[in-house]
This record gives sequence, C-alpha cells and structure tokens, in this order.
Amino acid sequence: MALFIAVEVSPAVANDAELVKKLVEVCPVNIFAAGTGGGVQIVEKNLDECTLCELCLDVGAPGSVRVKRLYGDKEVLERRA
Ligand code: SF4
Repeated sequence: MALFIAVEVSPAVANDAELVKKLVEVCPVNIFAAGTGGGVQIVEKNLDECTLCELCLDVGAPGSVRVKRLYGDKEVLERRA
C-alpha cells in the first residue's frame, strides 16, 4: 500500500491497449504495466517512487489520469482541457 501517492486511470484509458502502452513508456519509475488482455495495472510497489513529472497526465483525454499526493496539501495533478 502506497503511503504518498495514488494514481487513478479512467476506464477509457485503462482498457485501451495503445494508451496503456504510452503510460508504460512515459513513466520513468514504472508505475504502469500492461496486464493480461492489455488493460493497465498499477504497480503498487512503485507508486511512492512517483517523481510528479506529470508525463502520464498527457495520455488520453484531459482528466483521464490523475495523480494524487496523499501528504501535505493533498494536491491532485491532472491535465485540464
Ligand atoms: S507523474 Fe511521472 S512518475 Fe508519477 S506516475 Fe505519472 S509519469 Fe509516473
């Protein structure tokens, strides 16, 4: 269970094999993996390694990927339109 970071991926992205591939490619700390069937898997053990680089926020429609800080101001990072 991650202490510092939570990541949410909308079903539209989570179930799109091409977009999942992009998530896997952009994340520098391997928080995303492709599961069997092409859907996204969040790699829990890597979540707290998130660098808040925001590269994943550009995958899919605005707001499809959200990164939440679970500490401090608990900011939610997401791409807005
Ligand atoms: S913000 Fe960067 S490090 Fe964090 S999950 Fe997204 S791509 Fe990975």
